[in-house]
Amino acid sequence: MPHRTEPMPVKHWSRAGLLLTTWCNAACASCYLACGPTRREDMPVESAVAWWAELAAASPHGCRVHLTGGEPFGDWERLIALCRRARAEGLTGAELVETNAFWATSEPLVRDRLRQLDQAGMGKLNISADPYHQQFVPIERCRLAARVGEEVLGPARVQVRWRDWLDEGFDTADLDERRRRDLFHVYLRRGRERMNGRAAGRLAGALVSMEPAAFADISCSDSLLRSRHVHLMPDGGIMPGTCAGILLGRAGNKPIAEIWRELSHDHAARAVVGPLAAGGPLALLGEAVEHGFVPDRYASKCHLCWEIRRHLASLHLHGDELGPGWMYEE
Ligand code: SF4
Ligand code: SF4
Repeated sequence: MPHRTEPMPVKHWSRAGLLLTTWCNAACASCYLACGPTRREDMPVESAVAWWAELAAASPHGCRVHLTGGEPFGDWERLIALCRRARAEGLTGAELVETNAFWATSEPLVRDRLRQLDQAGMGKLNISADPYHQQFVPIERCRLAARVGEEVLGPARVQVRWRDWLDEGFDTADLDERRRRDLFHVYLRRGRERMNGRAAGRLAGALVSMEPAAFADISCSDSLLRSRHVHLMPDGGIMPGTCAGILLGRAGNKPIAEIWRELSHDHAARAVVGPLAAGGPLALLGEAVEHGFVPDRYASKCHLCWEIRRHLASLHLHGDELGPGWMYEE
């Protein structure tokens, strides 16, 4: 089947995550970014409010905004200040706030913070709980946040990723290295993880099985151009919702509506997004090989894509589309 070469229409961005910080108390093996305790990129409240408003104005359908990281509760004062500012500016409240619940150390504290977020317009609380997170966060904190959250917000406004693990899981920090790795691999085979960032480096090796040719003629236009979902990094870098490390533009220098229009006009001509949207990672492989990349076997097309991009980024190629740099450097 030939690669598609005609320009694909770009969907309006109607769902966006603001990554308020790259700091996180955890350093999960499954992190599709590469957040952790040593990272310190923060999104200023002023920028977050401005980009929230620009996102809402850029799409005829409006834009549902969620707050994430890193760990957005790492700076509670900034999180609640942002939610209040957005409300004061007349913006629709955050669709949800994501957390690993590390901060949920007592019932009064959880109740107080969730009430404040509720009053500031938060829709849902989304709690991460799985074997990777429980290497760093006691599962009892996730359970406490979920239980109090359901009391304060109602059950329909508390999501847990994953509920089966919340019910049956345990602290994987207590496991020895081999048993933890085996458990990770069991979870990995469920296919829920995105093979970008740290996840590609730490987890994909357990699933490596396919030659690059297995991913021939798989267009990525749905993920890059048609998903409606983007993430904004603390510095304004705009990434597709599921393709960490690919930049579609950068908020701050020009309105987000203009960035979207530029992408609509020139995506087919872009050095990274163009080939990926047309033919998936294999369409980028030739350039990487020309620059010394030696193909291996891969867990998925996204794992191959990540390794190709990491190679190109290491040579400082396509810096306007491959970023942030620290993700590729970990
Ligand atoms: S997956 Fe979430 S909790 Fe884990 S390191 Fe990344 S941002 Fe932190
Ligand atoms: S292969 Fe690359 S561009 Fe395609 S969906 Fe995966 S990360 Fe995104």
